Amino acid sequence: MISATENTAWTLVVSKGQSRNPKKRELEQAITNLGEKVQGLQVLVVPHLYDLPKGSESYKKLSELEGNLIVVSWIYSRAAHWVLDRNGIQGQVGEVLLTDDEDSESDDAAPNSEGAAEEGESVQRVTDMHPRSSRSIHCIDLKITEQPDEIHREIERIVQSQSDPDTNHSLPIVGGELVQVEEQTNRRWYPVIDFDRCTNCMECVDFCLFGVYGVDGVENILVEQPDNCRKGCPACSRVCPENAIIFPQHKAPAIAGATTQGDEGFKIDLSQLFGAPAKGEDPIEVAARERDEQLLLAGRDTVGIDDQLKKRQEDRSQAPKDHLDHLIDQLDALEL
Ligand code: SF4
Ligand code: SF4
Repeated sequence: MISATENTAWTLVVSKGQSRNPKKRELEQAITNLGEKVQGLQVLVVPHLYDLPKGSESYKKLSELEGNLIVVSWIYSRAAHWVLDRNGIQGQVGEVLLTDDEDSESDDAAPNSEGAAEEGESVQRVTDMHPRSSRSIHCIDLKITEQPDEIHREIERIVQSQSDPDTNHSLPIVGGELVQVEEQTNRRWYPVIDFDRCTNCMECVDFCLFGVYGVDGVENILVEQPDNCRKGCPACSRVCPENAIIFPQHKAPAIAGATTQGDEGFKIDLSQLFGAPAKGEDPIEVAARERDEQLLLAGRDTVGIDDQLKKRQEDRSQAPKDHLDHLIDQLDALEL
């Protein structure tokens, strides 16, 4: 059993990919081997985090850990953080400097990292109402590099940058314990909520007609029945006013959780914004169409743009433009 003590304050979690691609397996193995050599680091290898059900052996092991985490996985860092959060592995978003070069380009067109609200506007996010513990969770996206050494250097940098020079508690051992959890998983598809952005407005509950969302004991939005979600459907991510709903396996980076760390805020591939709906198309219309497709596939009647959705559409068109709206305007201007 891995137990976090003051002598083992860091754990490297290696989350394996879904595919059998040998190159991916090699990279995971190389990172695991290098991780074992980092002072003060223990290593936990688990299947793909997103596919693991609550109560799985891997999440049991993860929940036993009390120290800081470095998580390497094949999904965007932001997606990995909130997948862990929904499974009770909570903490603060830890800084990661190893990011995609494209993510480091000018952030002129990026919406504010504080969400879709106007600058200066005070909006309460779920994490303001329910702050997470101070432990840091640094999620590294393995899609960024094929070089294990680059990831190894970043892991060392994170561990060293956070070590306490007085007590040196985070670097006391040479080489760590390695635990590998082997368990069967199936590919899953469900929404993951970024609670640093979510305002608990409940629009997603109203929109989804498949019973995916619910509320918890303190009236907070909850992905209650994740496996009710229709495979490939990202519709509710288009109606969320805060861009807080992530589908980690979606091909469009904006929906899959693309982001950068720190003050730079969101970095969105403009050409892929919202899965690149046709030019000028209203995201709410796209969402309604996608929802209808899923209703038809499930043998149910379509609902189109119902009154509630129409009202949201009107509210949205009358609302002052926010960062995301400006981003869409720029996309239109590019005539992609
Ligand atoms: S629509 Fe978005 S902001 Fe509103 S409750 Fe759902 S996830 Fe949160
Ligand atoms: S993607 Fe579709 S089915 Fe899944 S939660 Fe959203 S609206 Fe419901």
